Amino acid sequence: MNWTSVEEEVNHAGLVDLRELNFDNSFVRELPADPLLHNVPRQVRGACYTLVDPTPTGSPQLLGWSDAVGRMLGASPPGSSTGAVAEVLGGNRVLPGMQPYAARYGGHQFGHWAGQLGDGRAITLSEIVSPDGTRYDLQLKGAGRTPYSRTADGRAVLRSSVREFMCSEAMHHLGVPTTRALSLVSTGESVVRDMFYDGNPQAEPGAVVCRVAPSFVRFGNFEILAASQELDALKRLADYVIAMHFPELGAPSAAAYVNWFEEICRRTAVMIAEWMRVGFVHGVMNTDNMSILGLTIDYGPYGWLEGFDPQWTPNTTDAEGRRYRYGNQPQIAQWNLVRLANALFPLIDDKAALEQGLAVFGETYERESSRTLAGKLGLLSLDRAGDGELVGELFEMLQQVETDMTLFFRNLSDVPVGEADDDALIQPLRKAFYDAAAITPERRSALAGWLRRYIARAGQDGVPVPERRERMNRTNPKYVLRNYLAQQSIDALEQGDASVMERVMAVLQRPYDEQPGQDELANRRPEWARNKAGCSALSCSS
Ligand code: AMP
Ligand code: MG
Repeated sequence: MNWTSVEEEVNHAGLVDLRELNFDNSFVRELPADPLLHNVPRQVRGACYTLVDPTPTGSPQLLGWSDAVGRMLGASPPGSSTGAVAEVLGGNRVLPGMQPYAARYGGHQFGHWAGQLGDGRAITLSEIVSPDGTRYDLQLKGAGRTPYSRTADGRAVLRSSVREFMCSEAMHHLGVPTTRALSLVSTGESVVRDMFYDGNPQAEPGAVVCRVAPSFVRFGNFEILAASQELDALKRLADYVIAMHFPELGAPSAAAYVNWFEEICRRTAVMIAEWMRVGFVHGVMNTDNMSILGLTIDYGPYGWLEGFDPQWTPNTTDAEGRRYRYGNQPQIAQWNLVRLANALFPLIDDKAALEQGLAVFGETYERESSRTLAGKLGLLSLDRAGDGELVGELFEMLQQVETDMTLFFRNLSDVPVGEADDDALIQPLRKAFYDAAAITPERRSALAGWLRRYIARAGQDGVPVPERRERMNRTNPKYVLRNYLAQQSIDALEQGDASVMERVMAVLQRPYDEQPGQDELANRRPEWARNKAGCSALSCSS
């Protein structure tokens, strides 16, 4: 199989081979290193990272390359699926100028302090200074053991790597802040996983994703330093992150730290509002999976809402408590920010200031979620009398019968605004209902009644209908990475066929556009996928 870029028309002018990029390693240079190099699981002290090389694999082969990310870095698509670039991106070759490391972090997992976690299978190869001067980390996930691997193998299976590769790019094109993914490499080695934690381990194909972001620092990088009272390293890491990624905040000072925390709260709120807008459920919002830059990070057992259900979580490991369910994501983000506030307290020493930062989370989330919801409904705002009730009734109806969130909102813009009987009003939304028989006469007239009130309300804004439709269609994606589409991509790739992944990724580059011939990728989940592993439920096993 050959790798193929996921974009059709690309201009490669000015791009260079990945090996010719401008490597630099400021994280390694400026922050305290683990003085020990031996690569065995252990507790690390007094350091932000440990230098460690990727462990080579059998035969790395490029299966996927994101041209959009390549261009961002200044890198041209490699000419071969098994050449030098595949070796670098599979972890078999470290280039001159790179200083690979695993970062040290801790975290609160499912509400409890878990101590040291760290990059157990992620290894940052290097920073790249891109043509426009922006710095990006190149990080391999699944590249072998590090001192932070605890009892695990440092590897990743193909299915979870495909999911991360596809979703990072899909989220970016949807306009959601996220880490990116440059490449997907199969290792040629198998990895043993007990996918359902039911005592049935299986050998699965292994893979490595190369992730890209200005920084992979998490809340947990600060938490571990505070928890172990390493306050000098805590300050150095904060100063470094501010200088590199928040330069507008100026030189380190108590005020700069407060402003920084406030900005993290703001960005996190924006990110969560965007997740809610597109129906994304992260699945494992532990504090070690929260980016200090407000990016979606660590794609594991994530999922996309099909039926609109605030209680839904894709993560079987979380099935009982449902801590990370769709509707709970804003509360969890705030809970995580409180953990970060505690970790930063030694630097700030001002409870009131931190509480004010946290209030910014609440305010920003309120504002952003109201703005995006208004956009989904094609309204200028939700400030008019009666808007709260209108929205409340809608959410109630969406939950009474299984209603596909993406299809409902996308097709809402097609509901006729003139004289129309109940059937004509509801017609554009029919595709969103998983069970047509559940639309009883009472439900039909309740929905039609709501639609008439909604159309009347939209009319009050005085915005021409075509303009409203256009705005709605830029807020309500037609195409999202439906859980079963990711699984179909994986199933095909496991048979050596990359075409399904490529088609889905190409369509997901323009998720708001009508794309003739691709309508089937916008369909609601087929019945065969309702209870199929990987389509409806995922474990953390990856
Ligand atoms: P996650 O819940 O996937 O974000 O991972 C939590 C912690 O477990 C992190 O420290 C990961 O690096 C580590 N981890 C997960 N899978 C593996 C693996 N296969 N090998 C080593 N460490 C892992
Ligand atoms: Mg993680």
